[in-house]
Order: sequence, then C-alpha cells, then structure tokens
Amino acid sequence: MTDLLAAAHTIVVKVGSSLLVDAKTGRLRRDWLKSLSADIVKLKSEGKDVLLVSSGAIALGRHALKLKSGALKLEESQAAAAAGQVRLAEAYADVLARDGIVAAQILLTLDDTEERRRYLNARATLKTLLELGGVPVINENDTVATAEIRFGDNDRLAARVASMMEADRLILLSDVDGLYSADPTHDAEARHIDEVRTITPEIEAMAGGSVSGVGRGGMTSKLMAAKIATAAGCEVVIAKGTAQSPIAALRAGSRVTRFRASTTPAAARKRWIAGVLKPQGTLIIDEGAVKALAAGKSLLPAGIRQVDGRFERGDAVVVRDGDGREIARGLAAYGAGDAERIAGKRSLEIEAILGYRGRDEMIHRDDLALTGLTER
Ligand code: GLU
Repeated sequence: MTDLLAAAHTIVVKVGSSLLVDAKTGRLRRDWLKSLSADIVKLKSEGKDVLLVSSGAIALGRHALKLKSGALKLEESQAAAAAGQVRLAEAYADVLARDGIVAAQILLTLDDTEERRRYLNARATLKTLLELGGVPVINENDTVATAEIRFGDNDRLAARVASMMEADRLILLSDVDGLYSADPTHDAEARHIDEVRTITPEIEAMAGGSVSGVGRGGMTSKLMAAKIATAAGCEVVIAKGTAQSPIAALRAGSRVTRFRASTTPAAARKRWIAGVLKPQGTLIIDEGAVKALAAGKSLLPAGIRQVDGRFERGDAVVVRDGDGREIARGLAAYGAGDAERIAGKRSLEIEAILGYRGRDEMIHRDDLALTGLTER
C-alpha cells in the first residue's frame, strides 16, 4: 500500500497511550518514541507537515504520583494528567530534538476547535508552527477541561485537529490493526475490513463498543473520529502501532483499515463556510476587490466600502458588491468595530489605526468561499 501516504501533504498522527507507556511498568517506551521520531524525520524530508496528537499524560502521571491501579476519580485523572503532561512533553521535546526537530506543546479543549475566535487562533498558531518547521504535539487540556468542554478521547480531538488544519491523512495508531466485522477477541469468525468507502449503520454496528487497552478510545470513538475527519475531506487510517517504526510499517503495507474521503479538505472547508446559515454581518466591497476575489485573492481592508452588522473576529460574514449582489462568504479576521475603522485603508496602516498588528487581510483567501461570482 505504497500510495497510502505518498500523496498526502498534511498528516495528523494520533498516538494512543498504550504505545507510549508500558502498561505493566507505567514507564515511557522511549525506544518506540525514538523510532516514531525517525518516521517523522522521513515524512518531513518528503516535504510533508506532521502534527502529533498524543495521549499518555494520565498513564504517565498516575505512575509518577503512585496512584493505585483501577479506575480513577475525575480529579485524580486530572491531577495525573498534570503530572504526566510535563513528562510527556519533555519526552517528545528530548527525543525529537535529537533528530533536529523542534516539538511544540499545544493543549486544546473542545471549545478551541469550535468557538470562533479560539478556532482561528489555534489554527493560525498551528499553521505558523508548521511553517517554522516545528512539530506540534497536541493533547487535550485535561486539567482544566470540565465535562462540558471535554473531548474525552484523543481520537476525536485528532479528527478535529485534522479538519481544522485541512489535513489529508489522519493516522490513528493504537493497539488494534483496524476494524473487524465483529469483536475479534470474542468471535473467531471476525473478518478484518481493509477499506471503508462510506460509514454506514452496518459499519457502525461492527464497532459495537469494543474497548482497547490503556487509553480511553475504543473502536466506537475511532469510528466517530473517522466520520468527522472524512466529512472534512481527510482520509483516515486505523493501524496497529505497537511495534517500532509504526509509520514505516504502514508504508511497508501492514494491515490497516482505510476510510476514504469523498471530498478534498479545501472543498470541504469552503463548503462549510459557504453553508453557514446565519452570517453575522455584511461587507460591501468595491469593483477592484470583486476582481481580486474572482482571481482567488484575499479580501484586503482597502477594498471595503461599508461594514454592516455586529460580528466578532472569526464570525462568518457575507461579502457583497456595490449593487448588493452576494459575491462570497468568509470568516472575518476583525470584528465589526475594527473592520469599520480599517475599511478603505491600506494594510500597512492597520497597526497605526488599531494600535495592534492584526492580519493584513480582512478575510484571508483560505477563509473565503466564492458563493455568487459564478452567476455573474
Ligand atoms: N488525554 C488523555 C491523556 O493524555 C488521553 C485520552 C485518550 O486516551 O484518548 O492521558
């Protein structure tokens, strides 16, 4: 299966706790991590961006704090996460640095991938980190996450990250080599599924609540993750990563389940932006800006003639021409108040006017979907 990663540009790799932490001793599997680091070096040498979503904080922390085995109370797992996360980040930073890679820790909650301003900020930070050649090491911010703002499992967190970053591959590394027609630990007839084109109710029934080792994510959460990511145009691979060099093993054709996506990440994102039901405001732009947008450029403050509505940074707005015709929809990089103050001004003037240096664009082209131009 050599084409599995060949065409990918942005790859999210989710590392399950059971790979990183030895279940018996509670210690870090450092040699395994070294082999993963070598895999990442190879991906980066091919020009790919890699983001890691890693579990293991709770598993490492409970060992460090000498917590008893068995189920932990919520506060205990949060305390364990706090003690474990610092060890986890240290391990990644140390091992990756030996291979010349800068690891950067990002802790997210559900809000950060959903709430508009935080979403834009998290995305911009991650993009900048990748441009600078770093490898983000992402985990849930377990210590502050309450029941309402929890992902609960990193499979879904990884899927949200993949969709936020327009990744084209999400690799879920765990202790199972994919989806089976029934639970293989109980059913000798269970058949391995190599490829899923659509996640049908039959496929969902196959997952039936199976739970894997140390981590929290069973097959059900992997399927949920696959749904989120494939809808965002990202192909998902469930692979067994226990042995060393898990990505190299994938390339060599180890058994996996591959979930195909029916769209591309860019198309899925544009469709999402275009489909926002309640845009919060309107930007009226001049003819020059209409031409720029038609040519695939960003919307700069200079081309804005009027700002209507109450919107905040990250909200969806409608872009119209002087005759009121809809041209596009997009996510505003400034709230309505600031947008009004910089409308018609050059990007160089933004800092002097607002007193801070924001984005050069009012709507970046990645955050813009042309919704009306084709009808003209
Ligand atoms: N965030 C948790 C940790 O780092 C793991 C969640 C999961 O296993 O999916 O320990």
